[in-house]
Amino acid sequence: MSRMSHARYRNESEPMSAFDVDDNYDSFTDNDRREFRCFFCNTQIQFSRGRSHDDPHFKNWPSKNHESHCKVPNAIKQLDGKKKEVELETLVSTILPRAMSSNKTISPSVKTYKDKEKKYVGKQTRKFIYDIKNILDPYNKFEVLNDYRDLKFLTEDNDEVCVTDIILTQDQIIESLDANGGESFICILKATVSKITEIRGSYIFDMTKAQNAKYGNSKNFKLYMNYDFVEKNEDKIDSMKKSLIVCYGIASKTDYGYQMELYSIKNQVAILTTF
Ligand SMILES: [Zn+2]
Repeated sequence: MSRMSHARYRNESEPMSAFDVDDNYDSFTDNDRREFRCFFCNTQIQFSRGRSHDDPHFKNWPSKNHESHCKVPNAIKQLDGKKKEVELETLVSTILPRAMSSNKTISPSVKTYKDKEKKYVGKQTRKFIYDIKNILDPYNKFEVLNDYRDLKFLTEDNDEVCVTDIILTQDQIIESLDANGGESFICILKATVSKITEIRGSYIFDMTKAQNAKYGNSKNFKLYMNYDFVEKNEDKIDSMKKSLIVCYGIASKTDYGYQMELYSIKNQVAILTTF
């Protein structure tokens, strides 16, 4: 039984997330609910709110299987033989936005902060970043656990990305941005917050920098929170101080330096340890 985070709905070109369906549950009629299909093989699938209505996802329609070439059942097959110490099925069946892999840039149609927030950092992201945290090894500098280093995730454009290729240090992100002409891309930053500064209502979270670059942090990198998003994050800003974090978001090169945009600490950030 394959579970999925997203589905194709009717003729819409963008996949719809199970959280979006759940948030608007009453606006979908019984007929509407027959219109969800696998984004990869077009087989009819079913929406479920989860056991206590707190775990929305898509699952197989009774007695309908995905096509044999479909990436979804194949993604879930990666888990065969793995220790089930962490909940991995949600991780490998989460469909990442098409800009996920570092060599693809973000669609120019998604421009404003609000648009980006909606597309890239919803509740689905919170589940994703916390599942990522669970496969990092606290006894080995929070590297991906050996057992999971070859895990691959699905992206909207039918591609796969390896977990170790999307979790990057600040130096690795800067290197990628420089290599592709400064085009923004989505990834997971792993770094330590050193200083938090308010500038005209917006917030800057500077990452620590060290000469020896042992942790891939020889260059300046920051998280940037526009003032539009400060109010709903206010109670969580201090929790980031002096913390090693993983943060899922859009990395870019701007006139003010290299940065990642932060819209929702709750949905984008998992704190690994605080010093
Ligand atoms: Zn399928």
